[in-house]
Amino acid sequence: MNPEIDTKNKDATDVSSPDQPAGQPQQTAEPAPRAPSETKRAAHSVTVENLHAYYGGQEAIKGMSIKFPANEVTALIGPSGSGKSTVVRCINRMHEEIPGARAEGKVMLDDLDVYDAKVDLTAVRRAIGMVFQKPNPFPTMSIFDNVAAGLRLTGTKSENLRETVHKALRGVGLWGEVKNRLSEPGIGLSGGQQQRLCIARTIAVEPEVILMDEPASALDPVSTLKIEELVEELKERYTIVIVTHNMQQAARIADTTAFMLDGELIEHGPTNKIFTTPEDERTERYVTGKFG
Ligand code: ADP
Repeated sequence: MNPEIDTKNKDATDVSSPDQPAGQPQQTAEPAPRAPSETKRAAHSVTVENLHAYYGGQEAIKGMSIKFPANEVTALIGPSGSGKSTVVRCINRMHEEIPGARAEGKVMLDDLDVYDAKVDLTAVRRAIGMVFQKPNPFPTMSIFDNVAAGLRLTGTKSENLRETVHKALRGVGLWGEVKNRLSEPGIGLSGGQQQRLCIARTIAVEPEVILMDEPASALDPVSTLKIEELVEELKERYTIVIVTHNMQQAARIADTTAFMLDGELIEHGPTNKIFTTPEDERTERYVTGKFG
């Protein structure tokens, strides 16, 4: 097994969306959105086996196994404190950055053992990108440099850099809104635009998996809708795991939904089944609003 992860030899086809701000003329100079068949790319699945995660002596994840299928959206739902964020942080090994925190068990990206001692941690985090609840553009950087940041770390040459940054901005539907202000600070954008900028930064390095921890919960309804539409498009090229406390959102965008409670996976299945005919009584009580 090769502990290096090759994410470079992928075509960087963009996933343009007609994301035009209301009241503005349609941008005619834009390249036409590509046909879905051209935007598709087979991503990798993630398999978690018997994961235990700790904060000091507290066991936050108590032996969880789950598979996140490639090119699908999987929603993690459950009450606050049930371990959703901890699980996603274990997938790209960010959990271990928290002082006193550790994880045991297996996380596989296809056939790559993410916790293998020989694995290149930077390559893992490039292959498994993360988007947080609060948009976190680099505060001193321009819009362009925010998206270019990860690419520069990989040594991308400047001509390719420009092209890839522009593609990533088109891919999140932000190009029309920012193309004339690429050198302005990223933090000058609205909250929803900042979140799409952060997603552009993530997809610029062509990851396999995008982890999203409540990516829309700090946003207004219109921006939330844009993020949801974007997630639908992104699964053509990436495997997506999204933590959400919003059950309507899970129902709208997730292919499968996993319900967690007290550090355990209670049930994982097709989203429609989880919300209408779940197997476990605790899932039913949660999705019908009886607790949480
Ligand atoms: P959720 O995302 O479902 O709200 P979390 O994964 O954030 O749940 O939390 C799971 C458990 O781990 C909770 O008991 C929480 O208090 C604890 N926890 C989360 N983050 C930390 C941390 N940085 N330090 C200590 N305990 C934490």
